[in-house]
Amino acid sequence: QYQGLFGRSTNEVLQLYSAHGQQQTLQRNSVVTQLHRAIQRLKQDLKSLHSFALELSKDFQHQCKTYLYQVLTVVQRLQLQNEAMQSKAHRSCISDIGNIRVHCRIRPLLPFDTAAGHTVPQDRQRNISEKVAYAADDETVLVKCNRPGHTSINKTFQFERVYSASESQDTVFADVAPLLTSLLDGYNVCIMAYGQTGSGKTYTMLGPQLEKNPAFFTEDESELGIIPRATQEVFRLISEKPPGSYWVEVSVVEVYNNEIFDLLAKDSCGRVYGVKRDVVTTREGKSDVPLLTYETVENASEFLHLVKKGLQLRVRNPTLVHAHSSRSHLVVTLTITTTVYGDNFGISWEDELTSQKLNKEVSCTVPQKIRENKSTFSSRASSPASSETTEKLKQIKARLQLVDLAGSECVGMSGVTGTALRETSFINRSLAALADVLAAIAEQRSHVPYRNSKLTHLLQDAVGGDAKLLVILCISPDQKYLAESMQSLGFGTRARQVQRGQVKKKNLSVPSKAK
Ligand code: ADP
Ligand code: MG
Repeated sequence: QYQGLFGRSTNEVLQLYSAHGQQQTLQRNSVVTQLHRAIQRLKQDLKSLHSFALELSKDFQHQCKTYLYQVLTVVQRLQLQNEAMQSKAHRSCISDIGNIRVHCRIRPLLPFDTAAGHTVPQDRQRNISEKVAYAADDETVLVKCNRPGHTSINKTFQFERVYSASESQDTVFADVAPLLTSLLDGYNVCIMAYGQTGSGKTYTMLGPQLEKNPAFFTEDESELGIIPRATQEVFRLISEKPPGSYWVEVSVVEVYNNEIFDLLAKDSCGRVYGVKRDVVTTREGKSDVPLLTYETVENASEFLHLVKKGLQLRVRNPTLVHAHSSRSHLVVTLTITTTVYGDNFGISWEDELTSQKLNKEVSCTVPQKIRENKSTFSSRASSPASSETTEKLKQIKARLQLVDLAGSECVGMSGVTGTALRETSFINRSLAALADVLAAIAEQRSHVPYRNSKLTHLLQDAVGGDAKLLVILCISPDQKYLAESMQSLGFGTRARQVQRGQVKKKNLSVPSKAK
């Protein structure tokens, strides 16, 4: 370039320089413009990157939520499956094992534990309560055996379930409820409370008695015992079945001084009074009480009304251990009856032909009340049904026996004399007979001495293996009742070991309404 300027005039050189400068300015301007555009594009890219990142994060959050929800759903489903499996296992455990289930309930220390000082022999008298029986865990009872002058020994007893003093009526009933499902499935069920007077048998079976009238029980729902709760649950379960497919009867019996009293029998004026009945063995080898009053009931309150009526007749003679001690065994029986088609128990009640067959047969077997139930036994009852099909219909009964046993304390301990002593000795004999029966079954002896006592004869089918039997041991935790508590715990331990073979199921199942 400079060589090209050689020999040119200054003017020409200046012109050339100026042209060159302009060109450079132009070039620079275009570079700046390009840079500006690139910056704009970058900014644009950055913006879209930013919004993309935002969208991505939103999307990520959404997906996280979806996955979390899916995981939660799966976890919930697994939990439900697990619970269902557990309750199924629990039920099959109750249904398949013929063993007697034993639960143990330790009541709290109560004011009368100290007040009743004169009811125990001199050497056992104490003015302060001392708790010696505890629930070590929900299957173990721990008893501190501390006699003066001896080193203290701790003894433990295992049961299917142990309730501590703080466990509620609700908790106790939760373990009983599966048995009621079994009842509707066709098993006989028997629940009995065993323990010394004042240990909580009546509290557990019925609920706290009213001070003014011991035949009446609390109205407080949370305090209700097994009998009212079980009745409500049975009627709730029945309500899930086709209407009219089951009906319920109640009987209330007392075993007092080795005599059986029908607490629902009425005199000619309709007043309830206790009539003596007998217990017999039927040709099928079952125990039966001929002429026993069975009242048909349609709901839990009708049922409980009859139980209360019966309770008012219950023979009582307060011992010094506890003012409202019951000196008799109380057996409340709830019988469920249904009619099923002989060979095919899995029938659907909606099935046209079956309904016709049932309508015909049921109309001559069920009580008037049930027959009037139009929703079940509809106008189809008049439709022709062939006579040979009706022969296969069967009426099936399952029984729930709820037993509040009399106190198991030792004779001489309760400070009783005369009539009361006679009662106590009858009670002890009947409870000893119960223990003998269990021992005979446990040893698989050919002869089981059911007939040694009216109590065991009456409960023969429940104790002997035809029913699912739950014994609830009731324990007073105080030191002064140690001997009685140990006796009850021993009874429960032996009862648990009794192998009765398979519990039989009656084919009672009617498909439930909800499909
Ligand atoms: P039992 O029928 O064995 O003779 P009760 O059921 O009458 O004994 O109980 C005696 C007393 O103890 C009653 O006043 C009852 O209310 C009370 N009681 C029993 N068990 C409990 C418990 N788990 N919690 C509170 N009070 C109880
Ligand atoms: Mg009682």
